[in-house]
Amino acid sequence: MAAIELRALTKVYPGGVKALDALDLTIPEGEFFALLGPSGCGKTTLLRTIAGLETATGGAVVIGDRDVTNLQPGARDIAMVFQDYALFPHMDVTDNIGYPLRIKKVAKPARREKAAEVGARLGLDHLMDRRPGQLSGGQQQRVALARVMATQAQAFLFDEPLSNLDARLRLEARTFLKKLQRELGVTTVFVTHDQAEALAMADRMAVMEAGHIRQIGTPAEVFQRPANTFVASFIGSTPMNLLDGVVRGDTLEVAGHSVAVPTSAKGRVPDGAEIVYGVRPEYMTYAAEPAEGAFGGKVAIVENLGATHLVTLDVNDVTVQAIVPEGSEPAIGDDGYALPRHDRALVYRNG
Ligand code: ADP
Ligand code: MG
Repeated sequence: MAAIELRALTKVYPGGVKALDALDLTIPEGEFFALLGPSGCGKTTLLRTIAGLETATGGAVVIGDRDVTNLQPGARDIAMVFQDYALFPHMDVTDNIGYPLRIKKVAKPARREKAAEVGARLGLDHLMDRRPGQLSGGQQQRVALARVMATQAQAFLFDEPLSNLDARLRLEARTFLKKLQRELGVTTVFVTHDQAEALAMADRMAVMEAGHIRQIGTPAEVFQRPANTFVASFIGSTPMNLLDGVVRGDTLEVAGHSVAVPTSAKGRVPDGAEIVYGVRPEYMTYAAEPAEGAFGGKVAIVENLGATHLVTLDVNDVTVQAIVPEGSEPAIGDDGYALPRHDRALVYRNG
């Protein structure tokens, strides 16, 4: 196990795409670190550059106390699980799991023993003689995990390892993988474009956009205090309300309403400044009756989320959303009022 440190890590592909722009990042030993961002932001490039499958254009990769920037992948002592698992179709489970040990010239009996031990741990004991084509997606995913575990690497790198599983299996695999990582205590970098996955699994996480890291923090920090409107709109199972507004002395003018300056922005917003007011639908209190400081409007849509409902209000030509507990949801066309929680609302500079 080892810490991973990236120093001004830069990757420019031939042709000029700057996939990583001077990234600085330190992942302490044993941490489960999630890297989140939209497609094309550089997540795979970052993992491949850590693994040595891509050469850095600039900067350094340090694993433990070794600068590995110029080392071959095999000399870096880290293991990577790919999105498509990259299992060998002609090998059975035992040989697939033992393959990295074969590369390391470990003798066959020792390889089989290790494969059996790791396979048992992942619930694959009854499948050791099968080939990947005879396994379900979830089982293949466990073989890919087992192969990584058999290597006893200093760090694990996962590139969207759950994205090929169906929704139900993905949730199970998420819990399973998280538990396994806790038991093994191996430094893990987990790439995903699924914000729920990152929030659920990570000790800490980074949000990437176009080759840059926009925020690093615990899931709670990133969820509650997104650093900018990009992160704010990317995180959360329902999008944050982001409403244009103007500072008017002690209050904000937002969507034709006068709203108190949120606790987090007190003293930081100059009079007259154009701002974006952000508040999550979860942090709105919904009522059918007017309330001081609430956004009032007409109910346009009501979406059933199971134990809650997402209510969309038309408020002076803008849209405001609130999460409403089961049983108190309104009907379309009703008058509705959404009161933001000032201790959870945020203010961003516009532009
Ligand atoms: P992500 O994994 O977040 O979807 P990638 O790391 O795959 O993003 O890609 C980041 C950027 O680098 C994209 O603009 C992509 O088109 C570009 N890119 C990725 N691989 C190559 C390559 N081998 N050659 C040129 N450009 C590439
Ligand atoms: Mg990718």
